[in-house]
Amino acid sequence: MQLYRLVYYSEAAPELGLDDVAHIAEKSSKNNQRRCLTGSLLYCEGKFLQALEGGIRQINNLYRKIMIDPRHINVSLIEFSPIQKRAFETWDMSLVFFPSSQEFLEEYIKYSHVTEFDPMYLSGSACTELLKDLLQKRRHVTHLADIQRRSI
Ligand code: FAD
Repeated sequence: MQLYRLVYYSEAAPELGLDDVAHIAEKSSKNNQRRCLTGSLLYCEGKFLQALEGGIRQINNLYRKIMIDPRHINVSLIEFSPIQKRAFETWDMSLVFFPSSQEFLEEYIKYSHVTEFDPMYLSGSACTELLKDLLQKRRHVTHLADIQRRSI
């Protein structure tokens, strides 16, 4: 079956807390594993950037739910295209959490012509590469305690 990748950007709902973000990541890891979806979810300065890889039906079904989820707003599609192979290899949804984009500016400026973190300036493939780079820095977290520690 043909593999697809979908990349979107959104803004956290104003009342969303770090515990909610951790809950989304934990639930997503479990759900995505069942659906053979891989990917990565970046949360930084109230912005989400997510890549999802897998079958077209599984991605479409999930994206429909994500679009109407009240925990974020302004969900904007960046890319949805067929791919040859997965960029993210683990069977879960790794949450890449950075309290401030200053912490990944070094990586970010490789992909963007501006220093302000705004995924809408990036192409889908640039978003995917950025997410991969940030994951390789091993800054991904899956538990609320890690998120809280890193936000101090
Ligand atoms: P449940 O988790 O039981 O949710 C049932 C319903 O309640 C859904 O409509 C959900 O939107 C809503 N809901 C649940 N918790 C809350 C809450 N705290 N506040 C308000 N409404 C709530 N899901 C995945 O499976 N995989 C992903 O990769 C994924 N990525 C996401 C990324 C972002 C940025 C956001 C905001 C959500 C993401 N979700 C993801 C969640 C997705 O939108 C659905 O909520 C989820 O897929 C539904 O899972 P479920 O069927 O097990 O139902």
